[in-house]
Amino acid sequence: EIAQCLVGSEMCIRDSSMTSKPSSRSASAQAAPDLSDISRSPLVPPLSKTTLVTDGSHGLVVIMLSSHGASERFDAQNGIVMAAATSRQGLPMQKKRDMMSLSHQELEQLMDELGQPRFRVRQIEEWLYARGAKIISNLDNLPLSLRSQLDARFFIGSLDLVTRQVSEDGTRKYLFELADGACIETVGIPSADGKHLTVCFSSQAGCPMGCAFCATGRAGFVRNLSSGEMYDQVRLVADDFGIRVSNVVCMGQGEPFLNYDEVLEALRRMNAKLGLGIGARHMTVSTCGLLDGIERFSTEPEQFTLAISLHAAIQDTRDSLMPGVSNTSIDSLKKAIRHYGEVTGRRPSLEYAPIKGVNDDDEHIEALVEFCKGMLCHVNLIPLNPVTPGKHGDGMMVPSNRTSHISNVLSARGIENSIRKSRGKDIDGACGQLRQRLESSMSS
Ligand code: SAH
Ligand code: SF4
Repeated sequence: EIAQCLVGSEMCIRDSSMTSKPSSRSASAQAAPDLSDISRSPLVPPLSKTTLVTDGSHGLVVIMLSSHGASERFDAQNGIVMAAATSRQGLPMQKKRDMMSLSHQELEQLMDELGQPRFRVRQIEEWLYARGAKIISNLDNLPLSLRSQLDARFFIGSLDLVTRQVSEDGTRKYLFELADGACIETVGIPSADGKHLTVCFSSQAGCPMGCAFCATGRAGFVRNLSSGEMYDQVRLVADDFGIRVSNVVCMGQGEPFLNYDEVLEALRRMNAKLGLGIGARHMTVSTCGLLDGIERFSTEPEQFTLAISLHAAIQDTRDSLMPGVSNTSIDSLKKAIRHYGEVTGRRPSLEYAPIKGVNDDDEHIEALVEFCKGMLCHVNLIPLNPVTPGKHGDGMMVPSNRTSHISNVLSARGIENSIRKSRGKDIDGACGQLRQRLESSMSS
């Protein structure tokens, strides 16, 4: 059972008007904020001032680090950092690629190209994926000459912890900073007996889909994450809990099917023995319903699990709740999901957050029943995480007996469903709240 870990979240970087953000990479000190309820890593230096400007082209962000006047451009699609002054690892101006965005095959090709034996691939993967190396010069079982060749072309795009919150129920929420200063959130959800761990990771910094009920959607899009940045979220959470990850859900910030290749690469890394060894069936990708992505996902050889955010089976309601997919008809979505079930034999989940007066009346319940009829699916009724302030805030939450009623109607009509348990409520259920709290404490 996947606990709720919805990342209704904004991200650190929004636009040029935001001149202050958490940064663990700068030496310039500001007064540290009052983070009384946040356990902060002792390794994280004080926060600094940073200016961020999106340049309008896809996935490219210019970062001004006030500490040493550095300006970096990060091309997320290709995992390349172009450092115009000094980057995080003190690099002069040149193009570098994130080593963690290289697939196993690319690493093999690279070693061939550099005239290195193939066992170097394994050594490098151990450093990157098991030991969490941050700097290429630290890879000390590689020959010095190889390290400097790699250093000239690559950096390691690992994550830095900015803050962590721990819930009474054991759920932990993390704010991580990426190499270019963008921030993302990740959640670790232990089972009640503490033996199993589910990690909810982000696939993008922000999200361009603009769903009305989602804080990430409201805040906009920054960039795609590399596969390494997704992998590292899960690894760091596993390290923090000190136990094996049993499940991962790609339900954090972002729309995974807008970053399809990197998400799949990340899942494969997590699945690999020299990775996290998580079973493919225990990995769930949640999409707002991009048809191409659903089709493509059905052809993947691994038995990954699919979840689709439905939220309304009436066209007008879904269009207004989820404007990013308003070009998708309910009928075509239904066909795509049905096709997925037929091709894979697997049962996708349909995510449905009842919102008072929006999608919770009898007409909407009936439409949901019709949508599910004859389809292999499991409906997950998820409690709305209010994103305040806004029209889908507290007042939009449905009473629990209404959710139970919806569940009963579905069951009576033969539709498998469950009400998802909310976890980590006391640590700001919607992930963006962690960042918001940090920012407000910085400005006060
Ligand atoms: N973009 C993908 C995955 C990330 S969102 C998607 O939309 O599926 C993960 C889940 O959180 C989705 O089911 C989404 O609809 C849900 N969600 C977002 N904001 C929420 C909120 N405020 N309350 C409840 N669920 C929310
Ligand atoms: Fe939020 Fe919608 Fe983006 Fe999912 S697709 S992260 S729900 S805005």
